[in-house]
Amino acid sequence: MDYQAIFETAVDALRDEKRYRVFADLERIAGKFPHAIWRAENGLEREITVWCSNDYLGMGQNPKVLEALKTTAERMGAGAGGTRNISGNTHPLVQLEKELAELHGKEAALVFTSGFVSNEAAISTIAKLLPDCLILSDQLNHASMIAGVKNSGMHKQVWRHNDLEHLEELLKAAGTERAKLIVFESVYSMDGDIAPIEAICDLADKYNAMTYIDEVHAVGMYGEHGAGICERDGVMERLDVIEGTLAKAFGVMGGYIAGSTALVDAVRSYAPGFIFTTSIPPGLAAAAHTAISHLRGSCAEREAQQRQAQRTKDVLRAAGLPVMPSETHIVPILVGDPEKCKRASDILLADHGIYIQPINYPTVPRGTERLRVTPTPFHNDALIAHLRDALADVWQRLELPLGTASEDVTARAENLEQNIFTASGG
Ligand SMILES: *Cc1c(COP(=O)(O)O)cnc(C)c1O
Repeated sequence: MDYQAIFETAVDALRDEKRYRVFADLERIAGKFPHAIWRAENGLEREITVWCSNDYLGMGQNPKVLEALKTTAERMGAGAGGTRNISGNTHPLVQLEKELAELHGKEAALVFTSGFVSNEAAISTIAKLLPDCLILSDQLNHASMIAGVKNSGMHKQVWRHNDLEHLEELLKAAGTERAKLIVFESVYSMDGDIAPIEAICDLADKYNAMTYIDEVHAVGMYGEHGAGICERDGVMERLDVIEGTLAKAFGVMGGYIAGSTALVDAVRSYAPGFIFTTSIPPGLAAAAHTAISHLRGSCAEREAQQRQAQRTKDVLRAAGLPVMPSETHIVPILVGDPEKCKRASDILLADHGIYIQPINYPTVPRGTERLRVTPTPFHNDALIAHLRDALADVWQRLELPLGTASEDVTARAENLEQNIFTASGG
């Protein structure tokens, strides 16, 4: 058995499909967001502009956040010292969970090492604890939610993306007596569309189902206090579980769920992904807490982000670039070909100093390969103009079509069942 050859063949298959992934070697410059130093493979260093970061509000370099990280590490050390079962809670983590519960208007919250882990651990544990649970999962759910669904071992049905009729059909067929868990996202991060949350909650009430929402791409950015789309829409209390990350708009690292005391206590007590892993360090907890409380009290960052995102869409559309329909801060530009998507990204970086990672299958359906642009409050009008010119040049050189990206392209999600080995996402 030639073990190494098997790995090489597996990776070669990705190369043949033009979706072998290469990660740029970047060094973000604190205080100069969104600029970073890029080290090319030939060793050359160059300052570039990042246009695809999920540090949506630049909180990762907010001076107050950095100060909290530094002073807490100096007082309490670098690491947490072990799992919470072995070493207890660090005090900043206790405070952070209290803040998160308050943010989402829930009784309790629980922090995990990442958003991925929080989804995997919470969904699988909740579903396992519910007798004969049927999981109803949106077709475009993130890989971490799919992992939770699979690892629960419970029966699942996938409903067509944001399709209320299909969801109702499945709920009705399951009947009101059976335990049911509806899992979905608020903002879908590749298309930038939003789930009909209130209507989903209405269906959940009607058929007596539980609701679990991933607000990873909305926390910090929507709602009066940055609690997400559920806050914006005034439906926070209708969701049984709200899941979020500390790693995107909050700029640091870690994930969490917020819900009832009973539910959070059960996940804390039963989820292997929570129990058997070291908790996030006290410095990270304090930094995340600082970012959250800052954004609870300040709308300036979200407003500036919305403004610059809208401006980016307007400017790129005016230049004829195929900006896909998006209701949010996410600006996807359709390329529709994996190889050209990769080449577009390479040209942008090498010739224009602009970094936008190509988004190919399986993150998005084949034929909808795209560049996913995420403007922040720090992408000013001059940077947007530079992006427009650079994209126009790339579109010309690669002979990519200009014009409107049609709605049905975004709807063409070919695979209901993503393979967890290859699925990835925001
Ligand atoms: C990024 C992402 C996650 C995972 O969050 P991390 O904190 O990065 O692990 C979960 N859900 C969605 C929708 C995401 O895009």
